[in-house]
Amino acid sequence: MSRDRLQVYESGDLRVTFEPAVCQHSGVCLKTLPAVFDVKRARWIDPEAASSRAVIAAVAKCPSGALQAQLVTSVHEVLPPLEDL
Ligand code: SF4
Repeated sequence: MSRDRLQVYESGDLRVTFEPAVCQHSGVCLKTLPAVFDVKRARWIDPEAASSRAVIAAVAKCPSGALQAQLVTSVHEVLPPLEDL
């Protein structure tokens, strides 16, 4: 597997993706939510280690956009406004 390949981590209603080639190694994710983002683990992102809202808020702080998060929901479900996350 290429080290630059897109990584996908899923749990329940949340999908987190990580694009290694885009990461600026700022460490913001590690400092913001260390229970979820831990480079000591083989699968370093564990979306189940915090609430979906907390993970989405942490992903939003990623300065490079290497991290992305998507709620996997029914097309009929209404999502809360981003400012409420
Ligand atoms: S916050 Fe984004 S740019 Fe910074 S280390 Fe994490 S994934 Fe990389």
